[in-house]
This record gives sequence, structure tokens and C-alpha cells, in this order.
Amino acid sequence: MIILTYLLIFIIGAMLGSFFNVCIYRLPRGEGLLFPGSHCPVCNTPIKPWENIPILSYILLRGKCSQCKGKISGRYILVEFICGLLYLGLYLRFGLGVDFFYFLFFVSVLVIITFTDLEHFLILDKVTYPSMIIGLIACYLTKKDLINSILGLLVGAGIIYLIVIISAIILKMINHPCKDEGGMGLGDVKLAGVMGVFLGWKFVLVAMFSSCLFGSIVGMALILSGLKKRTDYIPFGPYLAIGSLVTVLWGEKILDWYVQLLG
Ligand SMILES: [Zn+2]
Repeated sequence: MIILTYLLIFIIGAMLGSFFNVCIYRLPRGEGLLFPGSHCPVCNTPIKPWENIPILSYILLRGKCSQCKGKISGRYILVEFICGLLYLGLYLRFGLGVDFFYFLFFVSVLVIITFTDLEHFLILDKVTYPSMIIGLIACYLTKKDLINSILGLLVGAGIIYLIVIISAIILKMINHPCKDEGGMGLGDVKLAGVMGVFLGWKFVLVAMFSSCLFGSIVGMALILSGLKKRTDYIPFGPYLAIGSLVTVLWGEKILDWYVQLLG
């Protein structure tokens, strides 16, 4: 019985992931989400219902359009699979209570932001602003600590904003080749605001600490392995998203551990 529940949650996650794929493709292009129906981006053939089954269709079609054999991005199956796993993780962490749905929304927003940032180097206002507002309203309606969320928004966005300004000054001073792009942008500031709303001020700090840790480890690995150059632009949004996710699932443990470490 429990296995069936897990499977059901995974399938719901994968189905929503399939919808987020549409968001990731269409939002940066300014297209509507519901109309027109799904179609192949290469030949425009409408996608038949059986070709729209999360994960399975991609495998059955071997990642190709059934009409023109154009390649379907591996991101489709990846996002569906990740969402299935994430929803399962949230269920194991929270059960089916209010927190499950609260963080399910947050994590879904993180998935959309991560992949638009990876593909387009964009964190869209039309994703971040509504998410902040929905988070605050949900916080109020579920009688969570609204002050904590507002403080989280200010602390999260404030810290990243400071980093953006300071790094821009330093890059300019040393005349670094990235001085015009910078490492982080205003999109990251707004993302940090969303994180603050959902995590509160204490845990948004845990999330940012974890993000920087992942960012430096992965960034270092990418540069050492020669996959990226020191001057290549590496979007920071995905690291903020991973830090947030780790905090949603294990934030209290990390905080306890950190407090102990400080004695
Ligand atoms: Zn096609």
C-alpha cells in the first residue's frame, strides 16, 4: 500500500514536471502557457496524448519527434524525473500536511527558475514576483509566522543585493573580463527574496550558506576539469535553488550542527 502511495506521488510530480517543462520553454519566449497546445518546436506537429506521458513517452520515442525525428531536449525527461523525486522527498519529509503543499509550490518554482537560468541565463520577474506574493498570502492563510517571512524576504534579497554591488565594484577595480556581466544579477536578488518568504530569515541564511558551499565546490570542479573557463559565465540561480532544497529537507539538522560547531 505504501509503495502505491509513493508511486502515486512520484507520478503526480512527473506530470507537474511535464507542465513545468512547458513553462521553462514558453515563459522566456513570452508565449502563453495553455494555448496553443503542445507541439514539436522543430516541425510544429501537435503532440498526441500518448506522446505526452511523462518520462515514458520520451523513452518510447527515444528522445525524437515522431514526425520529423527532430531531437527532443533531454531536459524534458530530466525535469519530469527530478519533480517525481522531489515530490516524493517532500512527502517523506512532511507527510500530507499543509507544509507539504507549501513547500511543493516553492520547490516547483525553484525547478522552473533553475532551468530557465541554465538555458537562458534568465530569472524571470513574472516567476519571482508572483511567487513572493503567493508565498506571503499562503503564509498568512495557513497562520504561519508572516513577520518571519517578510524578514526572510528582506534578509535574503538584501544580502544578495549587497554581494551584487560589492562584486561589481571589485570586478571593475581589478578590470576583470567579466566586469560587465558580473557573477550575480538582480534575478538572483529576487530569487533570494522568494527563498526568504518560504524559508524565513534564519533558514534563508542556512540556504545561502549551503548555496555558496555548493557553488564553490562545483565551480571549482568545472574550472579544474576544463569544462568551464575562469571567465565563463556560470549562473548562480541553480546553486541558490539547490541550497534551498537542502534547507527545506534538512535545514533544522544543518542549523543544529552549525550551532553545536560554534559551541
Ligand atoms: Zn517534429
